[in-house]
Order: sequence, then C-alpha cells, then structure tokens
Amino acid sequence: MTKLADDMYFGWLANEANPTFWHWCSALEGVPEDHRVHDGCWVAAGTSAHTLVSREPLHLEPSLLWPCCGTHGFVRDGQWEAA
Ligand SMILES: [Zn+2]
Repeated sequence: MTKLADDMYFGWLANEANPTFWHWCSALEGVPEDHRVHDGCWVAAGTSAHTLVSREPLHLEPSLLWPCCGTHGFVRDGQWEAA
C-alpha cells in the first residue's frame, strides 16, 4: 500500500484496474470494537467509477467522497488534497 496521508492509503488489487483506498473513518471512532464490521476504523473503498488519469503519479478524477464520514478530496500528482 502507498501512503497518501496519515489517514489515507491506496493499493492495487490484482483484478482491479483502479486503485482501492483505505481511509481512517472518523464516523467509526467511538463505536465499540464488537459493533464494527471493519477492522478498527479503516474502511476500504474501490474507485471503479473514477477515471484513472495517471497511475504514476496517481491521478484520479473526479474527486473522491466517502459518505460514511464526509471525507472528500482530490488525488492528483500522487497527493491527497482535501476538498
Ligand atoms: Zn469514512
């Protein structure tokens, strides 16, 4: 996996053209461990609906938005930019 930010990583799954993202989901903080579906507060999400503009450095369009916690930003030039 590649680190984009302290709370954001991405990696490439063998059968996916687009990267999969893991974000530290603040919506899960405070939820008891035994009530969580995921391991800790990390949530994985694919980006198959996004356009892979460039793989190296990573560039996806349009912006990424996770409705679980409202994390929203752009991945351009291999960098995470909060929107
Ligand atoms: Zn989230």
